[in-house]
Amino acid sequence: MDKREILEALTAPDGEALFAKARVVREKTKGNGVFFRGLVELSSVCDRDCLYCGMRHSNVGAHRYAMRDDEIVACAALARELGFGTVVLQAGECPALWTRERVAGLVRRVKAETGQHVTLSLGERAEADTAAWREAGADRYLLRFETTDRDLFARIHPGAPRDGEHPRLAQLRRMKAQGYEIGGGMMLGLPGQTLESVADDLLMLRELAVDMVGLGPYLAHPDTPLGRDQTPSEVPVSVDFTCRCYALARLLLPRANIPSTTALSTLDPEQGRLRGLASGANVFMPNLTPAAYRADYQIYPDKICVVAPQADSLDALHADLATLGLRQVEG
Ligand code: SF4
Repeated sequence: MDKREILEALTAPDGEALFAKARVVREKTKGNGVFFRGLVELSSVCDRDCLYCGMRHSNVGAHRYAMRDDEIVACAALARELGFGTVVLQAGECPALWTRERVAGLVRRVKAETGQHVTLSLGERAEADTAAWREAGADRYLLRFETTDRDLFARIHPGAPRDGEHPRLAQLRRMKAQGYEIGGGMMLGLPGQTLESVADDLLMLRELAVDMVGLGPYLAHPDTPLGRDQTPSEVPVSVDFTCRCYALARLLLPRANIPSTTALSTLDPEQGRLRGLASGANVFMPNLTPAAYRADYQIYPDKICVVAPQADSLDALHADLATLGLRQVEG
């Protein structure tokens, strides 16, 4: 599949044929299993100032929290009880809080005490940090590159270099060499983003041979500079467009794990998550962050916390999956 074909698929009047093709590929590579991965949002403290994010350092109105290690391990134990297989430990970028030693110790504890696979998502970090965490047993690292358009990337990430290698692509390549399964992806509908650049982003996922694809719509946060930016985007913020990107990612990377994201459910609380699965996604990430903290992890506002970790909510989710002929599997 080349760039011209991707652009045609992104702009075709109807996406149904594309979604059907992606479902066939997913069935061949993944069967009817959907992985459930427990998302734990460790902390809303962040040193960075990404223009789109409600947790940016300069947003003095944001309430900050940081979970204790025992609370995090308890969330991983809950993931095990629910049959999930993996926890995703995600936090704002703050090396002083999430030191090399602390994260390595946490990874060891989670693996030893709960047997869960560990995906880390702690932002841009030094090679020695990610090496130490891999050594401690971390399995995967998720770092969205957000866009391959260098000007746009630099505009929305203050301090990011405009020249040389894209810092996040460079880190993803390093981590692949360190033995991680890597996850990359982008935001769709950023002010000033073009369809061509989204096609480039999709091709970059294939070039990197990512193991996981994390992509979702851009949801404006009113307390951020980008939330007030009226620059138009060629890229629609919609469930349909996001699902086309899931489907294309599935065709470009047949074996990749592709979560149907929280941002998609926020756009369409009734159907968003399932439409993601119906267009080739195969992972769902229930939010296991304790309720007391959840509302303070706000990259964008009105986030749907997809499912509370109560069995009845999971039952409802399993019933939804069954309507698509899918079922939860551990992994
Ligand atoms: S997107 Fe991530 S790194 Fe950027 S400000 Fe938000 S939490 Fe920090």
